[in-house]
Amino acid sequence: MTDSRYQVIIIGAGVVGLGVALEITRRFPDLRLLVLEKEPAVARHQSGHNSGVIHSGVYYKPGSLKARLCVSGAAAMIEFCREHSIPHSVCGKVIVATDPEELPRLENLRRRGEANGLTGLRLIGPEELREIEPHARGLQALVVPSTGTTDYTLVCEKYAELIAARGGTVLTSAPAAAIKRLPNEIIVETPRGAFSTTALINCAGLFSDRIARMAGDDPGIVIIPFRGEYYDLIPERAALVRALIYPVPDPQFPFLGVHFTRRITGKVDAGPNAVLALAREGYRHSDINLRDLASSLAYSGFWRMARQHWRNGLGEWRRSLSKPAFVRALQRLLPEIREHDLIPGGSGVRAQALKPDGALVDDFQFVPSGKILHVLNVPSPAATASLTIGQAIVDTAATSLGLAQDA
Ligand SMILES: Cc1cc2nc3c(=O)[nH]c(=O)nc-3n(C[C@H](O)[C@H](O)[C@H](O)COP(=O)(O)OP(=O)(O)OC[C@H]3O[C@@H](n4cnc5c(N)ncnc54)[C@H](O)[C@@H]3O)c2cc1C
Repeated sequence: MTDSRYQVIIIGAGVVGLGVALEITRRFPDLRLLVLEKEPAVARHQSGHNSGVIHSGVYYKPGSLKARLCVSGAAAMIEFCREHSIPHSVCGKVIVATDPEELPRLENLRRRGEANGLTGLRLIGPEELREIEPHARGLQALVVPSTGTTDYTLVCEKYAELIAARGGTVLTSAPAAAIKRLPNEIIVETPRGAFSTTALINCAGLFSDRIARMAGDDPGIVIIPFRGEYYDLIPERAALVRALIYPVPDPQFPFLGVHFTRRITGKVDAGPNAVLALAREGYRHSDINLRDLASSLAYSGFWRMARQHWRNGLGEWRRSLSKPAFVRALQRLLPEIREHDLIPGGSGVRAQALKPDGALVDDFQFVPSGKILHVLNVPSPAATASLTIGQAIVDTAATSLGLAQDA
């Protein structure tokens, strides 16, 4: 049994909620802290269904939270993995231009990466690309040496272990079902009991907008779930990819564009694409949740986005429903790849915050409301940056939630 009175409750034991909890136990070791997780274990959703890449920060707008927290977060993640013997590799990646139109965008990426403080970025030609990735083809490539890979489920499990060792509690199978705001406390009701707290941090990922509403706040956005589907290379063909091979991203949709990732386990996967999921935790085509679907379809922002970007959406659906179309996209980077080299792999669902005007929220978004802090948009590279996101959120919470006074 747990006690019922806390000074901070965090909803959600994904990599962000746990990263925040870890930082609280480090900075305020005497605060009574509880993390509530609806699933029977940590990292059951985005944090355990991602590509496992430690992103370098090359893509993000200079000065944005994403850029700042990713660059410092990647270094912190590598150090964390080293310190706790979590398998990881700083293998580097190549971003490959296959069309003359992409060459100026590749050069822009190099400049952007340098503006974000990355070192060692190099534009290379086709011969040098073949030395790094013998089976990749392109007109030019950008080498990003600081990119790495790890297993974020293991990272989350280690975060949870350290939180418990420092006196915090991570309570699983405990979905927050209701939130009551009283004058001096907040009550969170779960099937495992009601818990009182003076400060609450909402890190509920795909459900962060619903938790905000449950707390009586208007989040100003709706979370739209986008499923990313992967194929795995069969083991006999895994040698086609040494590390990470990426296309040049569309600046409007940096998360689109299937790529190859050699995971820390040695398995190579191709993907993910991005299709509208019909359930917030809809990992298969057949997963449909009427409430989730209605919340996407009833939102004017969804239709505004659909009107603007239907072409991209159709392309993603085509690659989702047709393996030949998926393989054609991959062949731009790796011409030797064939349909029979790929078998269906896993999938993940991204929580994408969408504004009423149909714009995707690009940067990380943390919104205080009284003694509650809502973490409403933490897409990729949030796993990479989870330690520094934890620090940034605790900086905000220390003042807006009064953590420093309570400690
Ligand atoms: C396909 C895909 C590939 C990606 N690749 C990368 C990558 O290579 N590198 C990278 O850095 N990032 C990557 N990302 C992004 C990264 O995984 C996410 O940004 C990050 O995991 C978000 O963490 P989170 O804790 O906010 O969300 P989650 O991991 O989704 O955690 C939220 C938690 O809240 C819980 N919860 C929800 N409602 C309740 C409730 N009512 N009560 C209690 N608990 C609740 C959920 O069960 C869940 O465990 C990828 C994401 C996806 C989907």
